[in-house]
Amino acid sequence: MTLIGELRRRLNGPVFGPADTDFAIEIAAWNTATLHTPDIAVGLTSERDAAELVRTAAAAATPIRVLATGHGSATPVTDGILATTTRLDTVTIDAVNRIAHVGAGCCWDQVIAAAAEHGLAPITGSSDTVGCVGYTLGGGLGPLARTYGFSSDWARRFRIAIASGDVVTADATENPDLFWALRGGKGGFGIVTSMEVELVELRTIYGGSVIFDTADLAGVLTTWTEWTKTLPDAATTSVVVLRLPPLDVVPEPLRGKTALSVRFAYVGDPEQGARVFEPIRAAGTAVVDSVGVLPASEIAMIHNDPKDPGVAWDRGLLLNELDAEYVTAFLDVAGPGQEIPFVAVEMRHLGGATRRDVPEGSAVGGRDGAYTLFLAGVPDPRLFSRVLPEAADALLKPLRPWISGHNTINLAGGSPDRATYEASWPAETRARLEKVRAVYDPHALFPYGPSN
Ligand SMILES: Cc1cc2nc3c(=O)[nH]c(=O)nc-3n(C[C@H](O)[C@H](O)[C@H](O)COP(=O)(O)OP(=O)(O)OC[C@H]3O[C@@H](n4cnc5c(N)ncnc54)[C@H](O)[C@@H]3O)c2cc1C
Repeated sequence: MTLIGELRRRLNGPVFGPADTDFAIEIAAWNTATLHTPDIAVGLTSERDAAELVRTAAAAATPIRVLATGHGSATPVTDGILATTTRLDTVTIDAVNRIAHVGAGCCWDQVIAAAAEHGLAPITGSSDTVGCVGYTLGGGLGPLARTYGFSSDWARRFRIAIASGDVVTADATENPDLFWALRGGKGGFGIVTSMEVELVELRTIYGGSVIFDTADLAGVLTTWTEWTKTLPDAATTSVVVLRLPPLDVVPEPLRGKTALSVRFAYVGDPEQGARVFEPIRAAGTAVVDSVGVLPASEIAMIHNDPKDPGVAWDRGLLLNELDAEYVTAFLDVAGPGQEIPFVAVEMRHLGGATRRDVPEGSAVGGRDGAYTLFLAGVPDPRLFSRVLPEAADALLKPLRPWISGHNTINLAGGSPDRATYEASWPAETRARLEKVRAVYDPHALFPYGPSN
């Protein structure tokens, strides 16, 4: 029997070949610039499906990769099996123990909504349409990062189908080496079917974003850089230089302009939050000011990331501590008047809880980063192979004195080159991750890394 026939016989979920009508829909990625063309697509519906898939694929020595939302899809999958998790979409909340049980196909908006009914919140990223598992496997730095750390610090248990065909638990007591790896080590360990994350008691945040026009950009950015050095761990902030299109969806005074958005989130007394944020409000004349008491369930409003699928290109890295010379160098390459093919150039302030590992240790890289720097390219695939990479290199060159040699994998993107991939974990962490992969996936059934 063919592999596809065997999979159809053994799994309850749908199995698609390239000739099947719904093949393209099943494997469509959020990043629409990436078109996956695996040999077979498998829609998982249960742990049993995952186990059967692994046993069948292992017997046929056929590689398996996993697709949830496709937010991390930057490299097309061109062979083997692509397993989709969207049907594993159940969330249940254990309010007493403050734990969310999250199916591998869930996005953060589902967990946020379910937890909010109990006055609880998960520690998420900036976008609530990103997949919970793929995000958490890479660590995860969100709008509350300085208060609560990496999202993977809040993962308490994974269920994962490993290369032997068993579905095992990975937590602090069962398979602790695998648990360590899954909190930030990203891929190449198996198919995660569900995870449990600890929730925090959080009903409101003092937060939102403020947008300044071109004339205020340099002054506010200078203030922001100095101000970040004074912030308590209860405050997390980021800035983004936006090149706004001349479209009706953009508020009139900002249409076609280069603007600066300052994002802010304070966990605690809102009046104290307002006092902490005051230097930014005083630094310029805001065109838009949405910073105020925000339900924790509206956390995605802080960054307003795009929700709908679209074409995406990005590059992210970590910065060390910043100073006035950095601001000058940054404005020279990314400020108003510079013709650059990036719609957004963002910096997120790290530190506080991002520096503190969980007591039992975890694999996540980038704990020593002071800020992130993230470039989002003009969404035109014709620019992806040469124009955007070259423009990014040119923009980053004068900023080298402040660029960290380290990275973290969610920021490094879905197809980092080898050097960026290797920089995403400290050398000893990377070596330990390889050892864990060798134990749980000895024949590389789950290919992972720059060439995969
Ligand atoms: C708009 C946007 C906003 C973002 N915001 C943030 C942010 O604030 N902070 C941050 O840290 N990152 C952020 N990211 C990056 C994001 O966390 C990664 O792209 C992440 O990999 C997305 O996971 P996914 O499952 O949604 O995507 P997918 O592309 O479906 O999955 C990405 C990878 O995760 C792995 N994976 C997914 N599910 C499983 C599974 N069940 N078992 C095993 N492996 C699995 C696979 O290696 C897969 O290739 C953002 C990305 C976008 C596009």
